[in-house]
Amino acid sequence: MKKLSILGSTGSIGTQTLDIVKNNNSEFKVMGLTTNRNIELLKKQINEFKPVAVGVMDEEKADLLKKDVDIEVYSGIDGIIKIATLNESNTVVNSLVGSIGVKPTVEAIQSKKNIALANKETLVTAGSVVMEEVKKNNVNLMPIDSEHSAIFQCLNGENIDEASKIIITASGGPFRDHSKEQMEKVTVKEALNHPTWKMGNKITIDSATLMNKGFEVIEAHWLYNFPYEKIDIVIHPQSIIHSLVEFKDNSVIAQLGNPSMKIPIQYALTYPKRYKTDEKKPDLLEIKNLNFEKPDFELFPCLKFAYDTGIKGGTLPAVLNAANEIAVNAFLQEKIKFLDIPKLIEKMLNEHNIIKNPDLNEIMEVDKKIKEKTKEIIENEN
Ligand code: MG
Repeated sequence: MKKLSILGSTGSIGTQTLDIVKNNNSEFKVMGLTTNRNIELLKKQINEFKPVAVGVMDEEKADLLKKDVDIEVYSGIDGIIKIATLNESNTVVNSLVGSIGVKPTVEAIQSKKNIALANKETLVTAGSVVMEEVKKNNVNLMPIDSEHSAIFQCLNGENIDEASKIIITASGGPFRDHSKEQMEKVTVKEALNHPTWKMGNKITIDSATLMNKGFEVIEAHWLYNFPYEKIDIVIHPQSIIHSLVEFKDNSVIAQLGNPSMKIPIQYALTYPKRYKTDEKKPDLLEIKNLNFEKPDFELFPCLKFAYDTGIKGGTLPAVLNAANEIAVNAFLQEKIKFLDIPKLIEKMLNEHNIIKNPDLNEIMEVDKKIKEKTKEIIENEN
């Protein structure tokens, strides 16, 4: 039986993970849950899934919750780490948002937990450290992201040395056909209106700038130990093909499915088995057209930043992520414009002195400093 700690259980991936648990309750048991500050929903989840302990990031909300429930309530980042390393659980679903997810992932791995990873900032910020820990502690790290789940499935039973290219598909987001002038004026509401995927706010903005796709290139590099030069992006507006792998005989394997996160979440938890789901299957006759386009690196500079920082390595991808986190947050609060997001990121990248082969402390120190610096710039310009 899989005994789960779900980090970020009140978010989009977290609630969908709990739906999967509910539909397969002889296979899964929930041991720990965490939220940032949504204690109302967490309370309902506690009543329904009966975990042994929970974590609440916000200290005040944690105190409020303690009065209402009779299980252990931990708080702050230490509380999240406590749930990530619970003795009672053997698998951690990390669906936190942001580099806040790095330490809980690393400590869970060191506590010999298998990981189902939706928190992409973990691998972008600290991919080298995380993959080294995975190897050292001999645990499984399964991707939840639809693209990386697709790549995993395309490589299933294959020898990675015979793969010549990984091709990651991208919907292109809501601004795929915009001109630069139109991009200047996009609103938060427009950016949050993703054409094919329903997701949390932060990742939806990342999907509008295509930073999300850039992050996925970096994730694919770490997950499959694959060189950046052999990872391509192709725009595929229907989001039916979730990614492809090309092999040296020029055969290409793709994975298809309707845009739903339920299938990749469940597969990450049941691999190598497959369980039934209620999700719609892709009906090729109904879909009719599958289109593909080249991504526009000029209109979406975040794609270029991702390749450049990934190739240069060291602490630079941590800078990319940290600046992006703060910029996206400021955009959501309408403090900056949409095109200020890549501008801020570029400035931070250009100013950074890369530390080669950083350890976790050095990475987290850079993460903290860049976040402070980006905030400062935004505040000074407002
Ligand atoms: Mg994705």
